[in-house]
Amino acid sequence: MEFCPDCGAMLLPKDGKLECSCGYTKNLSDDNEYEVSDNREADETVKMLGEDVEVGPTVNEICPECGHDKATYKLIQTRSADEAPTRIFKCSKCKHTWRAYD
Ligand SMILES: [Zn+2]
Ligand SMILES: [Zn+2]
Repeated sequence: MEFCPDCGAMLLPKDGKLECSCGYTKNLSDDNEYEVSDNREADETVKMLGEDVEVGPTVNEICPECGHDKATYKLIQTRSADEAPTRIFKCSKCKHTWRAYD
């Protein structure tokens, strides 16, 4: 709750500002209310490797586990946006998953 420094009345929020009936307005401070966390889990990609990779486009990749030549893949954006996305392959036969390094 905030009060007008001019007349002491209660300030009412309006259009992203606090406004008083006397005409006083105050800009709301840029609090961290809408802050987007960029501290994404560092081990996010690692964790996803152990999980089921969603079905994606099928590509001709040799599975290192069973030698099958078809796999689905998915692009995973790593921690920072300026890193190339990681490709995760999943063997369509034995469901083994692995990541590709370009
Ligand atoms: Zn006022
Ligand atoms: Zn396989």
